[in-house]
Amino acid sequence: MKGFRDIIGQEMSLKHIRDAVRTERAAHAYIFDGEKGMGKKTLAAAFAKALQCEKPVGEREDSDACGICHSCIMADSGSHPDIINVTHEKPGSIGVEEIRTQVVNDVLIKPYSSKRKVYIIPEAHLMTAEAQNALLKTLEEPPSYITIILLADNREILLNTLLSRAVCLPMRAVKAADISGYLEREKGLSPTETGIAVSFARGNLGKAVLLSESEGFTELWEEVRALLIHIREMTDVEISRSASAAGGKKEQRDDYLGLLMLWFRDVLYIKSGGSSEGVVFSGELRETEEAAEHYSFEQLNDIIEAVKTAGSRLRSNVNPDSTFEMLFMTMR
Ligand SMILES: [Zn+2]
Repeated sequence: MKGFRDIIGQEMSLKHIRDAVRTERAAHAYIFDGEKGMGKKTLAAAFAKALQCEKPVGEREDSDACGICHSCIMADSGSHPDIINVTHEKPGSIGVEEIRTQVVNDVLIKPYSSKRKVYIIPEAHLMTAEAQNALLKTLEEPPSYITIILLADNREILLNTLLSRAVCLPMRAVKAADISGYLEREKGLSPTETGIAVSFARGNLGKAVLLSESEGFTELWEEVRALLIHIREMTDVEISRSASAAGGKKEQRDDYLGLLMLWFRDVLYIKSGGSSEGVVFSGELRETEEAAEHYSFEQLNDIIEAVKTAGSRLRSNVNPDSTFEMLFMTMR
């Protein structure tokens, strides 16, 4: 199970958290703010574990949890009585009753086996206004032993009164090099797969991992790759067949266009004299160079514009098959 040392990126938030643990001055409320996949849950779990660890903080490495005491073992197995993960039933909202029973009333009971109680509220942006107000009451006069960590995809949705009572730690985009290092080390991906996952994830490590594990994504890439290699000699019939195949991928149309965009940007980059280290599809360098040779600057710009246009057509519900067909014609 994770400790501070396993967290990739988020240096600023991590420093703040380590300081809070080291000085034993954790705030009563934190908001970890950032989109899904940015590591809020992992960070909250590591924070809770470090706050509860039984080893004196002065004897630990960088304030991190020791990982071997009774408290750490319980934290790792998800059975720590003083680390409370707040759950909710409806997928789209956290109701006031859920906050009342699991937090507001529960904070009145002293910690079971440690000095403090840590509450983690995932998807806190889903709390109804009533639920937030109930929580606010608790935070206006919090028992000294509680720390509540709210995980929010977007803190803007939360009430200002609630925000003002919490320490907000924004999750930052993780550096591309850190993500690719992680993927190559932990997932054994090829350079091209890593390049695609990193480009698509835009600093979101969770998303990059998800992409790298998704079978559908690898298959999609194989298909796009085949299209890119053969497009220049495809007949009208073949183009329209490929367009229907692409149009039929309801959930993956955006990814399809995203891959085409990345590819043609690589081609343009190489054509402009860019070095091979700067490309996303580093495993397809030969194909990229061939395409750079074949297309003129003007054509490449037209294609990139056509990919953008296809994206906005799909968003406004224009027929997907004909949208892809027009795009593939331009590419050819
Ligand atoms: Zn410990």
